Amino acid sequence: MSVEVTVQRARCIGSKVCLSAAPGVFHIDYDNTALVIDAEAASEQELIDAARTCPTRAISVIKDGQRLA
Ligand code: SF4
Repeated sequence: MSVEVTVQRARCIGSKVCLSAAPGVFHIDYDNTALVIDAEAASEQELIDAARTCPTRAISVIKDGQRLA
């Protein structure tokens, strides 16, 4: 089963840390908040790193119904 990545946009402050932690997965939108464009562009570990380094913990990573980060 694939990994599910979500961004709580209301919590995002546009720091862009996720862009380098998981290249190709996130995009910063016109309103300076992140959205997921391709959850499969990075490895599972990179997704977890993105979630853990997000300063506002806006990113969730879920696999097989279990939250990894
Ligand atoms: S690291 Fe977190 S706060 Fe920063 S742009 Fe990404 S989702 Fe938003």
